[in-house]
Amino acid sequence: MNGNTINIWSDTWLPQYDPGYLRASFPMPLHTPTVVAELMDKHHHTWDLSKIRAFISSRDAQAIMAIPISNSDLPDRLIWPHTMNERYSVKFRYYYLMKHKKNQVVMKASSSHVIDSNVCFRIWNCQTLPKIKIFLWRSVNGFLPTFKIFFKHKLCQSPICPFCKEQPESIEHTLFLCPRAAKVWFASCIAYRPLPQDFTSLDSWILDLRLCETFNLEEKGWIITHFAFTSWAIWKTRCTMVYDNSNSCPPSPELTASLADRSVVEFISLVSSKENRNHFNNTPVISHQWVNPPVGTVKINCDAAWDKVSNATFDGVVIRDHTGILLDGIAHCFQSLSVVQAECHAIRSGLELAHVRGFTNVIVETDSKDGLPCPSN
Ligand SMILES: [Zn+2]
Repeated sequence: MNGNTINIWSDTWLPQYDPGYLRASFPMPLHTPTVVAELMDKHHHTWDLSKIRAFISSRDAQAIMAIPISNSDLPDRLIWPHTMNERYSVKFRYYYLMKHKKNQVVMKASSSHVIDSNVCFRIWNCQTLPKIKIFLWRSVNGFLPTFKIFFKHKLCQSPICPFCKEQPESIEHTLFLCPRAAKVWFASCIAYRPLPQDFTSLDSWILDLRLCETFNLEEKGWIITHFAFTSWAIWKTRCTMVYDNSNSCPPSPELTASLADRSVVEFISLVSSKENRNHFNNTPVISHQWVNPPVGTVKINCDAAWDKVSNATFDGVVIRDHTGILLDGIAHCFQSLSVVQAECHAIRSGLELAHVRGFTNVIVETDSKDGLPCPSN
């Protein structure tokens, strides 16, 4: 084994060492060694780590120094280190996994990151869509395919975030700390400013929120719902940009925030109306199909949700053209005294937005029976 073809930073070449490869601090200078042979002093049979010492931990250095350097100059080859003949087979892989599974169970309590059961409880009881609950559960368990996780599993060349190109793309970075995500949060109706010190991990953030005494139970529930929809919107935008449409400009943070706010409003309205129907009668749901406006006309859809206990009100507006393309949208969080006032505010927001955008032929669509006469009056 001469080390001429083993990449120091991406190949698994450290035996008996978890994870088997080096975790370097980034960025590194251009002329940093890339193959293992560059670290070998073959004349003295020792390792020369001086060129990479600044980028690796002392634990990494110890793992390298523990590897004996061969006298031969045979070319590198891939081996399976867990069998005598060094060959891989599914059968021995199975034995290996079963053997290590027991060790992992023992190690988990002391060394692995354990998710607090309250975090899982909060996610599964969150007022949101089932697909978003699954998304959140995957997020806190580290199962989302971010570049940091891809890099850890050697599925990409770099863990760096493709948008800011400054930090490894962890799930906390993607959903909160990346400047793009932070702008979405601030543009949303809760105007949240994520701070790096609040995000040691996503699940601890959720746990801290649970313990925060500033909010009452209802407010905590609403914040978690908003967190769920906004995180989902940020992640969907990120995936679209990475996989489908990487050459075009990403949607503005304001638009992403607006769509997330709108989703929250629609969801809360849907849940509220469903609860009311269940409470008062068993009238079957009449499905309402969105109909395109005529050519040359835009349609404004607006809605509002009002909580009669706190007077908290959320409204949302979207404007689409005759093809159904979204032209603009906006959402607000405010206080109002009645559902009529809330619905009227939503309609006025839609008309104001259309006016600002210069749309003159408009159709207003709302599910409010009481709010519509107001603008004409
Ligand atoms: Zn970033």
